[in-house]
Amino acid sequence: MTTSEQAQPNFALTLPQAPAATNFRLPGPTPIPPQVAAAGAWPMINHRSPEFAAIISRVTGNLQYFFQTSNTILLFPGSGSSGWEATVANCFSPGDTVAVVSIGNFGDRFALVAKAFNLDVHKIDFEWGQGADAAVVAEKLKMIPNVRGVFVTHNETSTGVTNILAPLTQVIRQVVPDALIAVDAVSSLGCVDTPMDALDIDVLFTGSQKGWMTPPGLMMISANERAFEAMKTAKNPRFIFDLQTARGTFAKGNPPYTAPISLWYQLDVALTMMRAEGRDAVFARHIELGNYTRQRLQSMGLKLFADPAYASNTVTAVLASDGTDVKALLKTLKLEDTVVFAGGQGKLEGKVFRIGHMGYAHVEDIAEALDALERRLQA
Ligand code: PLP
Repeated sequence: MTTSEQAQPNFALTLPQAPAATNFRLPGPTPIPPQVAAAGAWPMINHRSPEFAAIISRVTGNLQYFFQTSNTILLFPGSGSSGWEATVANCFSPGDTVAVVSIGNFGDRFALVAKAFNLDVHKIDFEWGQGADAAVVAEKLKMIPNVRGVFVTHNETSTGVTNILAPLTQVIRQVVPDALIAVDAVSSLGCVDTPMDALDIDVLFTGSQKGWMTPPGLMMISANERAFEAMKTAKNPRFIFDLQTARGTFAKGNPPYTAPISLWYQLDVALTMMRAEGRDAVFARHIELGNYTRQRLQSMGLKLFADPAYASNTVTAVLASDGTDVKALLKTLKLEDTVVFAGGQGKLEGKVFRIGHMGYAHVEDIAEALDALERRLQA
């Protein structure tokens, strides 16, 4: 026993207790496997040491495999939102014109961050529940002068819609060849095939608590040489999320901040598991999860919010039937059935509820959760 253990003999008596386990089906945070949970209890090491450098190398290598890129991958303490801020702060200057393709709440928030950094923001909005139409994006982009960047949400978690990126990045590159294409893949990367290099994406980011079977707290971002070139002249202020600085220190095997070491351990374990499963198998599992969830919900007579052509394989938004009190339904499911779903966001509050099926999820987990929902609806 160490001196510090002996000094705290009654510590356990006053410790807060762990919350009860549930069938936890939020679209983030998401459940974590026991092996990942256990890694959170590993002892601390120096984040400037050969041991940590080895973790950085393994984690970033495995992330490159899932991002399908040869670009550098950088990690920061923070949630998905810091991906928006890192993009805007690093690549642009006040007054720069950017177009934000928004299909829901998170697209709108990306635009708000750009406005907060004094960019000249032009929104290209689509009806919630729909994906972005490439031809419409092309037409709208043609009418905006001097576009320096185009922001796209890959998977709109508020509506359960996944944009089809290939036609979008293709028309964006055609119409505004010099603009940077930044994609928020917070709730899709690691679950849905998103080949960064093949799609010609300049900046791509995600968050640990979504498809990565890891707790919240790490943002993972990749930028290509075109984006790093833009950073040389971009004047927006940045410090914590400075990608150029981080690229320099990561290359030397350490981050430019004190790493949240436990989260790195956990992500390392999760990525090793995902790598063992294999990229294609992980993507196929999510297709199966999406199909199963939608079919089951429809067989209960429920209506789905997303246009089926763009239905997400990581999150499904379900339209509440007339007269359903969504808040009360979710509360009953949680308290009586230990099943946790998410409510609607923004203008969809009270109108939809959302079921996450990403990361550490198998059809059996979703089946159990949907069984409980079916019983409640019948009652
Ligand atoms: N972008 C998308 C698509 C999201 O789903 C979320 C969160 O749900 C975010 C950005 C913001 O991420 P965070 O809540 O981790 O800051």
